[in-house]
Amino acid sequence: MPMAKCPYCNKIVKIDDIKMESTGWLANKKMFSCPHCESILGMGFWGSIP
Ligand SMILES: [Zn+2]
Repeated sequence: MPMAKCPYCNKIVKIDDIKMESTGWLANKKMFSCPHCESILGMGFWGSIP
């Protein structure tokens, strides 16, 4: 299970907890935000997510 540390709040972000939002303008890309601080972590952060 991939995990990452949020660079903003330094908390562990598990893939189960992460928020994925479709960006709309790039239908095949997802936007990932930290569940703790809601900071945007990136787009396609874990590229292998289906
Ligand atoms: Zn955070």
